[in-house]
Amino acid sequence: MDLGFIAKILHSKLEGIQKSTQRFQKKIFTSNCIRLALCLIGRAQSRRTIQITTSGRSGYLRKCLRKALHTEASPAGGDDCCERCGNKVEKKLMEQWFFRITAYAGKLLANLSTLKWSEKVKVAQRNWIGQSVGVNFKEKVKDLDIEIEVFDTVPQTFLAQTFTVIAPEHPLVEQLVSGTEYEKLVMEFVEKIRKKRLANVKMDHEIEGIFTGRYIDNPFGTGDLPIWIASFVVADYGTGIVNCSAHDQRDFAFAKKYNIPLRFSMLPPDLKKAVQVRNFELCYHHAPEGIMQTPKEIHGMRWSDARDAIISYIEQKGYGKRAIHYHLRDWTISRQRYWGAPIPMVYCETCKWVAVPEKDLPVLLPDIADYKPRDDGVGPLAKHKEFYETICPTCGAPARRETDVCDTFLDSSWYHLRYPSVASKTANVKAFDEEITKKWLPVTMYTGGAEHSVLHLMYARFIAMALHDMGYISFEEPYTNFFAHGLVIKDGAKMSKSKGNVVNPDEYIKKYGADALRMYLMFMGPYSEGGDFRDTGMEGMYRFLGRVWRLVMESANMKSVDNDAVIHRELQRAIQRATDDLPKAGFMEFVNAATDAKKPLGTEDAKDFVKLFAPFAPHVAEELWFRLCGEKMEGYVSVHKQPWSMYDKSLLVDSSIQFVVQVNGKIRETLTVTPEQGKDQKVIEELVKKSERLKKYLTTRPQKIIFISGKLINFVV
Ligand SMILES: [Zn+2]
Ligand SMILES: [Zn+2]
Repeated sequence: MDLGFIAKILHSKLEGIQKSTQRFQKKIFTSNCIRLALCLIGRAQSRRTIQITTSGRSGYLRKCLRKALHTEASPAGGDDCCERCGNKVEKKLMEQWFFRITAYAGKLLANLSTLKWSEKVKVAQRNWIGQSVGVNFKEKVKDLDIEIEVFDTVPQTFLAQTFTVIAPEHPLVEQLVSGTEYEKLVMEFVEKIRKKRLANVKMDHEIEGIFTGRYIDNPFGTGDLPIWIASFVVADYGTGIVNCSAHDQRDFAFAKKYNIPLRFSMLPPDLKKAVQVRNFELCYHHAPEGIMQTPKEIHGMRWSDARDAIISYIEQKGYGKRAIHYHLRDWTISRQRYWGAPIPMVYCETCKWVAVPEKDLPVLLPDIADYKPRDDGVGPLAKHKEFYETICPTCGAPARRETDVCDTFLDSSWYHLRYPSVASKTANVKAFDEEITKKWLPVTMYTGGAEHSVLHLMYARFIAMALHDMGYISFEEPYTNFFAHGLVIKDGAKMSKSKGNVVNPDEYIKKYGADALRMYLMFMGPYSEGGDFRDTGMEGMYRFLGRVWRLVMESANMKSVDNDAVIHRELQRAIQRATDDLPKAGFMEFVNAATDAKKPLGTEDAKDFVKLFAPFAPHVAEELWFRLCGEKMEGYVSVHKQPWSMYDKSLLVDSSIQFVVQVNGKIRETLTVTPEQGKDQKVIEELVKKSERLKKYLTTRPQKIIFISGKLINFVV
């Protein structure tokens, strides 16, 4: 698949963004960029950093970069070393292309309730989107013509705010200190923190800060708030600026460290503790039972009840507005690799970024030998002039193609649209045919791994929504049902090469045969949960296949055997379960019953059973079928070409009854037996002898046995 189609539909949107690219770049850290017109693609200094290895061992590099993609996409961030080869990885700031998935955060979240998906996947998506509801405060910087927005998720205690912190990499920092006596020290501090972040130094525990010399202009009538730069604020969450108060542990510690005055707006009901809070000896925060002190309009209200009242109060006063923020980040589609659809953009000195015109799409990958990723963080295409040298589609001047390629998640985010249309008459002109799409999509049932919960499944939903809004498809959600299958683990732990607990199927196939492995995997656990691969379980399945082999071969060797009525009925149940309720296929039960019968399986029953067994153990079944059919190649038809066994419904009715066993008139056991068994006193007595539970009651020879056919047996001892 190529990017041509996506590029085509984005074309018109792109023209809008080109003009605002400069703006976009500058404002990337402010929340204003989120409110730019709904443009799906934009180029910016990467807000995330990509990891590249410092080693030149290119043989490993490809893997390292693969790893880098994963860590880049995960919120946890990467380690200092590559998981696969141990090389050090470094962070590098790069310009990359983004899809504005954040514009759909609200819809991605809201639509989840309409989907019939595995709950764990929905939960993962909700967490990934990470909605938080709060207040956006609008504030002014004193003596400067700068207005800022501050997002607050816990606005209850906003009147306790006494200072403001801003992220070191926030673009506003320069404006705040430019030309002031603070400039030199502040910029040195910013550089120090930047270096620490690039070097992956964890700064969660040591908080560092510096005063900018600036103030927020008296936002709530309680005085100006000094603006500090703090190491714990990140630019790309919220607005990158946070108001701080005594009712937050980190703010409290920061204020104590730098002697910033504090104020309280809530007190604990406990009077002794209240004194400590008044004296700022301890940080009182997020306490449901806390009693609000300010503003006077909600004085006396509990903290846990105050949220809505406070937000209304803030809106009434005009301090700010109710707002929703998301943790979801824009989607970096740039990859510095070879395998991927080239991003169809061209850079011209005069026109800046220009989209490749529709008639020139798709941009094809050149056929090159040095396709391996490089260790300088630049894509392989950047070495190929014949690829990147081009002319500007707008002014005709020499220009340069983008040499990054698209994230392959972009391909997988719409493949379900392409697949049904690959054979259509318009397949070479259109990405997907409208009629075919209308007939087959959205996808009714999608089965996959839960590891796709937050990347593939989120991207596919986003692309569908965007295409829907552009009028290309009639639905917003690509997959009505998603079923997350389980994971096979080994000896209780997830398989990993480094731990060495990996199951190599070849070894097991060599030792036990493919059928045993296949059946073991199929029946080791529920489909949604997977199971624990244990060698003992594998051996158990191998032994079971041995029993099946002996059972059927006994019959095959005797050429022709009549069906046994009881076993025949058991077989109907096995067929019924395999037909209607596959996960509970009753092979074990049937083989147990047939073995216990101590007589050969009827020839026809044996054939029906082997047909039933064939999809699960194809090789063993074929061998058995061949023997059951007289071992003649002439006219032989494979078991895999036989119709599925049908069961006789009439034999399933009352196929089991509860047979009561009494000892001296007291019920001691209830046996589940077939109606035939229930009529046969000898069979029942045999079953009683085998029962562990009845042993202690029947230690002596019974004086009398009362047998009521189909109902009960009473032993008088
Ligand atoms: Zn590596
Ligand atoms: Zn141009």
